[in-house]
Amino acid sequence: MKKILLLGSTGSIGINTLSVLREFKNDFSLVGVSTNTNIDILSDIIDEFKVQNIFIADENKKEEFQSKNKKIKLHDSLIDLVENTDFDILVNALVGYSGFLPTVHAIKRKKTIALANKETLVVGGEVIMPLAKENNVDIIPIDSEHSAIFQIINNFKNIELRRIILTASGGPFYKTPIEEFENITIENALKHPTWSMGKKITIDSATMMNKGFEVIEAHHLFNIEYDKIDTIIHPQSIIHSMVEFIDGEIYAQMGVNDMRLPIQHALTHPHSKNTPFERLNLLSHNTLNFFEVEKIKFPMLMLAYECGKKGGLYPCVLNAANEICVDAFLNKKISFTDISKIVGNICRDEHNKNLSIDSIIECDKSIREITLKVIENI
Ligand code: MN
Repeated sequence: MKKILLLGSTGSIGINTLSVLREFKNDFSLVGVSTNTNIDILSDIIDEFKVQNIFIADENKKEEFQSKNKKIKLHDSLIDLVENTDFDILVNALVGYSGFLPTVHAIKRKKTIALANKETLVVGGEVIMPLAKENNVDIIPIDSEHSAIFQIINNFKNIELRRIILTASGGPFYKTPIEEFENITIENALKHPTWSMGKKITIDSATMMNKGFEVIEAHHLFNIEYDKIDTIIHPQSIIHSMVEFIDGEIYAQMGVNDMRLPIQHALTHPHSKNTPFERLNLLSHNTLNFFEVEKIKFPMLMLAYECGKKGGLYPCVLNAANEICVDAFLNKKISFTDISKIVGNICRDEHNKNLSIDSIIECDKSIREITLKVIENI
């Protein structure tokens, strides 16, 4: 029986993880959960799974919860939850930068990491991967593309890789003419064609920042140069990614668009279990298309390559500026195209390249302030 600590339990990946745990009751027990604001769902989770270790991020919601549940003792912070819960696997389903430090603490405690929070590796891949190696910790990706590559690479360890090909659904705008990008509304941007996800990642998919983050994530996870990471639009999202080896063979991993499959894979790794979830019916998906990414329409993807190659704190700058801009877009303070303009300008300033856990924390904080000031002056 493996003990699971689930951060971000009420978000999209969190809910899917609970659905997996329900199906594998004899293999896993849920020992800790966190939520940002959703105390109603949290209460249901606590009742159903008898969870003892809990953290609520939002202060008001925490008070509201505590007044209704006087006997339940809450943890003081995510770090406190990670440090003082007895668990085997951390499922990090947090959104954004908030996922970084909890991963660091779990690695230092030598716990297995099932990682859905890609920003952990975007902002800190250069420190996270060596730290994981030093502590002999496995980082198993939940992100569907990386889960696909992880599965393929694990099966072909002795063949030299030529490149990896990350598939992208293209989001809602890969067919939209560039002249129309100025008029994109929040409602348009939140309509993702193939995946149902939280708001932040849905906007990141629309700008293709999400794919850019995945490029950086892949660079760190698989220790592969940026020039060997390609992206291709595959609107059906049936092939979750591909790996090409030097002998010309390309292997693709396929499955339905259901995050429970990569979650099941991450939790049961290195073993596999019969899945109770829907299997891919090839006859109902008899067309698979591929298109080139039109780079001019998606400057955020190119910016990710640029910042990734520069390394150091640049990916952290990219992430912090993007988080603030996505939030501003969702609050109607800036337009869709402003996101890439503002983030691009901030990333092209000179930034310190000295990387450490402390410099990442400092950089994230200062770039948020700088970005907010830029937005105020628009
Ligand atoms: Mn993904």
